[in-house]
Amino acid sequence: MAVSNASLEALSWHARFLGEAPGDEMVGGRPRQVPGKCWSRVTPTPAPSPTLALWSTEMAEALGLERTDKAGVVLGGGAPVAGMQPYAQRYGGHQFGNWAGQLGDGRAITLGEVETENGFLELQLKGAGRTPYSRTADGKAVLRSSIREYLCSEAMHHLGVPTTRALSLVSTGEAVVRDVLYNGNPAPEPGAVVCRVAPSFIRFGSFQIHVSDGHHQTLRTLVDHTVRHHFPHHDSSTDEGLIAWLTEVAERTAVMIAHWMRVGFVHGVMNTDNMSIHGLTIDYGPYGWLEPYDVDWTPNTTDAGRRRYRYGQQQHIGAWNVARLLESMAPLMDDVSRLQPVLDHYMEFAMNEQSETWAKKLGLGTLQESDEALVNDLLELLGATEVDMTLFFRHLCTITAPDVAHMADAFYDGSEPDTSTWNRWLKRWWERVDGEPDRGTMLQVNPKYVLRNWMAQLAIDAAEEKGDFSVAEELYELLKRPYDEQSEHEAKWFQKRPEWARHRVGCSMLSCSS
Ligand code: AMP
Ligand code: MG
Repeated sequence: MAVSNASLEALSWHARFLGEAPGDEMVGGRPRQVPGKCWSRVTPTPAPSPTLALWSTEMAEALGLERTDKAGVVLGGGAPVAGMQPYAQRYGGHQFGNWAGQLGDGRAITLGEVETENGFLELQLKGAGRTPYSRTADGKAVLRSSIREYLCSEAMHHLGVPTTRALSLVSTGEAVVRDVLYNGNPAPEPGAVVCRVAPSFIRFGSFQIHVSDGHHQTLRTLVDHTVRHHFPHHDSSTDEGLIAWLTEVAERTAVMIAHWMRVGFVHGVMNTDNMSIHGLTIDYGPYGWLEPYDVDWTPNTTDAGRRRYRYGQQQHIGAWNVARLLESMAPLMDDVSRLQPVLDHYMEFAMNEQSETWAKKLGLGTLQESDEALVNDLLELLGATEVDMTLFFRHLCTITAPDVAHMADAFYDGSEPDTSTWNRWLKRWWERVDGEPDRGTMLQVNPKYVLRNWMAQLAIDAAEEKGDFSVAEELYELLKRPYDEQSEHEAKWFQKRPEWARHRVGCSMLSCSS
């Protein structure tokens, strides 16, 4: 592990994406269409009064970066240091199923790529001002959504879910106006900038836009760049190589979503511009965590009507998105008929991942034919009662007899379990595992602590009302070890959703407004 004692200037900065993919050299400028290009140079907007509020020591260590006030200024949008070459990426995307044309980094600015002992990492500021892709919006981010992104991306990493990471959160000292529920009530909120980190922020939509524009040469260059640096074991110059690469992207996407299903995470906005080519969870917006298990739940009020991005639909949307990526590769293929089997493979692979996931959560060991019915019957039972997903599965890890009384506190008030029905299922499960579920595996896949919506909200309330980041710090530390008992934290955080959070904005209702 690198020692965290270097300043930002001393890191090894690179700009491989700028060097290889075609771009727009004009710095900043008004929102505009930039056909055929992959990026535009921009200058971050400095925060008027930057305070480095949250700092991921782990991420800083991976970069070898020292925490200093100066770093806070730069990571809040201050003047870039030597080596950084800030730019906004251009991409398109399907939003809620409809092609939306050019989108791009409207409020994200990449500072550069840092070479570390473990490969290259791109550092990107979210909320540091306008870019040519900001359209009519302000390029800013509010503290509330920044805390949510910072805490959740770090928590997901420690849960073993592929994700982008967060390095820092700087509060800007500036008020940003938002209409939280898009219902005609705009109000000022404190602003913030998160520095997020990933091998790259290339998305499905990064490729789609060039097909839509008819710029096939740019598409070719971007594919070659992506494969060369991020998937060097593939060869993008042949149909075989492209198919092998796309199969890997499809599988990584399915694996990521299987992890979401395992921990009860609902992304909320699985638009193709929010799908990382690396299969990482990206763009933490109106995401949420299942508390009562409910396949139809979505945290995103913007999607409340159709529930396109509901929990139970996520693998299918993954397939839909992979289909859009595959379509966008057609111009590069000699034989386009080879693309369809990749999609067929996705569905089969994803369903298999899903079955394996439930088998692990139930400690079943090697899957048997009768397991499908066992799992489906459990999911049906869970859906029919208001029962907390995290508490239920965690208690299942420690049960010593097939008796639902062991997980009584997982049931929400007014939804007490029908004991005989539950015990009938528990007995079936108990017999299936011969009274010896694979507890070791169960304890590694059924987290005790996740970032429940109300937990993030408590951190936000303290930060917004008193500039107090101690709750955020406490959660950051707690969620570094989500599978450990940490019994000293049980009374506070190993709890189902409190009544006050049932209908509160930010806990049960979230929108894309961030
Ligand atoms: P999202 O729903 O966060 O994935 O954003 C969709 C698109 O809107 C992306 O191109 C974002 O960069 C852009 N966008 C979202 N919020 C803002 C904002 N406050 N200012 C500028 N662009 C934004
Ligand atoms: Mg996005």
